[in-house]
Amino acid sequence: MAELKDVKGIGPRSLILLNKLNINTVEDLLMYYPFRYEKLERSNLAEALQDQHVVIDGKIESSPILMRFKAGLNKMNFRLVTKSGVVGVSIFNRAFLKNKLIVGSTVTVIGKFDKAKNVITASEIKLEDLSNNKVKMEARYHLTNGITNKNISTFISMALAQYGNDVIDYIPKKYLDKYGYSNKKTALNIIHNPPTEEKKDEIADRLKYEELFSFMFKINYLKREHKLSNKGLSRKIDQQKIKKFIESLPFELTNDQKKVVKEILADLESPARMNRLLQGDVGSGKTIVSFIAMYANYLGGYQSALMAPTEILAVQHYDNLKEVFKDTPVNIELLTGSLTKQEKNNVYKELENGEINIVVGTHALIQKEVKYNNLGLVVTDEQHRFGVNQRNNLQNKGYRPDILYMSATPIPRTYALAIYGDMDMSILREKPKGRQEIKTYVKTNKEIKDVLGMMLDELKAGHQIYVIAPLIEESDKSDLTDVNKLKDQMKLAFKDYFKIDIIHGKMAAGAKDLIMKEFVQGKIHILISTTVIEVGVDVSNATMMVIFDANRFGLSTLHQLRGRVGRGSELSRCVLISDIDTKRLKVMEKTNDGFLISEEDFKLRGHGDIFGTKQSGDMSFRIANLKDDYKLLLQAKKDSEEYLNDKNTDEDPLKKELIKSIISA
Ligand code: ADP
Ligand code: MG
Repeated sequence: MAELKDVKGIGPRSLILLNKLNINTVEDLLMYYPFRYEKLERSNLAEALQDQHVVIDGKIESSPILMRFKAGLNKMNFRLVTKSGVVGVSIFNRAFLKNKLIVGSTVTVIGKFDKAKNVITASEIKLEDLSNNKVKMEARYHLTNGITNKNISTFISMALAQYGNDVIDYIPKKYLDKYGYSNKKTALNIIHNPPTEEKKDEIADRLKYEELFSFMFKINYLKREHKLSNKGLSRKIDQQKIKKFIESLPFELTNDQKKVVKEILADLESPARMNRLLQGDVGSGKTIVSFIAMYANYLGGYQSALMAPTEILAVQHYDNLKEVFKDTPVNIELLTGSLTKQEKNNVYKELENGEINIVVGTHALIQKEVKYNNLGLVVTDEQHRFGVNQRNNLQNKGYRPDILYMSATPIPRTYALAIYGDMDMSILREKPKGRQEIKTYVKTNKEIKDVLGMMLDELKAGHQIYVIAPLIEESDKSDLTDVNKLKDQMKLAFKDYFKIDIIHGKMAAGAKDLIMKEFVQGKIHILISTTVIEVGVDVSNATMMVIFDANRFGLSTLHQLRGRVGRGSELSRCVLISDIDTKRLKVMEKTNDGFLISEEDFKLRGHGDIFGTKQSGDMSFRIANLKDDYKLLLQAKKDSEEYLNDKNTDEDPLKKELIKSIISA
C-alpha cells in the first residue's frame, strides 16, 4: 500500500505532526477514528438556556476587535446578526482569523451561550456559508499542536479517495455476508462523515467487530501454535540450592509467593512449555518470584531474559538482580537501546557464547541481532504494555523458551479468559507482611495549602515525595513548561531546604537514570515527574505521592502510580488533586485492592485503562470497548476460531496476511 506521504496534501511538516499522533501509515490515518462527533443541528437562541452549547448561523455585523494579553493569548469580539436577533461573539486565541471574519459574511458559530450577557463564547467558527448545509454531525479527532481538525478530516477524505479500495478488510467475506456488513471503504467513509447517528452506530459495530475479529484471530493463532509446539525444555532443578537461595533473601516469602514459585518450578521441570501469566497487585512481590524462576533456569543450565517496558525499570531490575545474586556465580548483563554500539556488541557476543546467564533489558532483547546461546526462560514484566504480536517474537526466532508474563493490572476474570485464555494463571493476592496501607485523600486545587503542609511534614520526617505533574502529553514540548512551572512553585513553597528535580519522558536515558539514581540515594527530596515513573520504580523512603489533575487517569493507573509509595514499613500517603470527577476518585480513598479497583474502573469506564495508559500494548483498541462490546468480542472469538481452523481458507490471502502480521511483528 502507498505511504502516508503519498496522500495528496500531506507534506513533510504534516507528516511529522501525524507521526506524533501515532499515525504512521495510510491505514493508521484511515483508522484514526473520531473520539466524538459535533452535532451541527442549529439551535434556537431564543429558547436556549444559560450556558447551553449552541450552533448558530449569522451574518457578521461588526469587524472583530482584537485584544492581546501576555503569554501570547488573545481574544476577539464581534457582533453577529442571527435569526433571533443580534448576539455578541467572543473567541480566544484565533487572532489569525481576524482578516477572515469579514463584515457581511455568513458564518456558523459553535460555542457556549451566556444568555445573561447575550454573548456566545465560541469554541469554533466555521467561515464557509453552511446555512443550507445538510451536514448533521461532524467528526472530532484528537489533535496535536499545529494540526487542525479540518486538516485531519481533509487528509482522511483524500486518503479515502486515493486508496480507499486498497485498505485491507480484516473481516472474511463469509462473515461480511453473514452479518450483512458493508465493505471497508464504505464503512470508513461513514464513520468519518456520518449522515445520521443511527448509521454511525451501525457502522461503528461493524468496525468494532472487525477489530475484535483480527485481535481474537491472533490470540487463537498463538494458542494453537503453542499447543502444536508444546514440547519445551525440561531441566533438573537442584531444590536444595533453590531452598538455600530463598533462605538468603532478606524476607520470608508470602504464602502466595511460595505457592506460585512451586507452580513455576514444576513448569520448568516439566517437558511441556511454560506459558504462564503471573498476576499480582502492585507491591505484591512478583519480581522476586521471577528471580527465583531465573535462578532455577540457571541451575538447569539455561539463559534467562527479563524484558521490561521501560529503560528505567530495566535498570532497576538489573540493580536488583546484581544485589540478590551477589553471592552466586550468576552473570547478569543489561541490554537497552541506549547502550553504545560497542557495548551492545559485547553483550551480543556474550549472549551468543553463553557467558551471560541473565540478560535484562527493554525490547532491545528481541531485536534481530540478538542471538542466544541456550535461551531457556523469558520473563516479561508489565506484560500488558507489550503487544500481542510481541508475545510470539522469540519463538519465531526459533527459540522455544518457557515464558512467564507478569502483570500488575488485574483483568476481570471473564475478560482474562477471553484474552489470556491461552495461558496458565498464577495470582499473588497476599501482600508482603509489615506493609502499611496507603492513606489516600482526594483534594481540590483550592486545598493545595493543606497538601503543601502534608508535604512539609513528610519532608521534615526525612521522607521523599513524588509529584505527578499536570498535563502529560509527553510528546508535546508545551507540557514541559508545565512541569517546570510546577517546579518553580514547589521551590517557592519549600525554598532551598529541599532539593527538587524533574524527570520526564523527553529526557535522554542517561539523564533520566542519573535523576533516578539521585532519588534512590535520597539526594532529591521531591521528584516531579510525568508518568514515566508509573511502573515498577521502587524507593521505600518515598512515602508520599501527589497527583495533579488526577481526573485524567483511570483508577487502575492511579492505583499503579500510588503503588510507588507504601513500599516500606512507614505509613504512606497519596493525594489526588482534582476539581472534577471526585466521586469516581473517592473509590481510591476507600480501597487499596487493585482487583476491586479494576472491577470498579471497568464498571465506570468500560475499557477503562485497566490495560494501562496510552502506550498499552495488548488491548489498545481503536474503536472497540471490551465492556460495552463484550457480546461482539464473544462473537468475534467464535468466528475467528472457526475461520482459523477451517482448512479450506488456508490459502485465503486474508488469512495469510493475518498470520504474517503476527509473525513479522
Ligand atoms: P511488584 O509485584 O509490584 O513488582 P515488587 O516485586 O517490586 O512488587 O515488590 C515490592 C517490594 O516488596 C520490593 O521492595 C520487594 O523487595 C519487597 N518484597 C517482595 N516480597 C516480599 C516479602 N515476601 N516480604 C517482604 N518484602 C517483600
Ligand atoms: Mg514490578
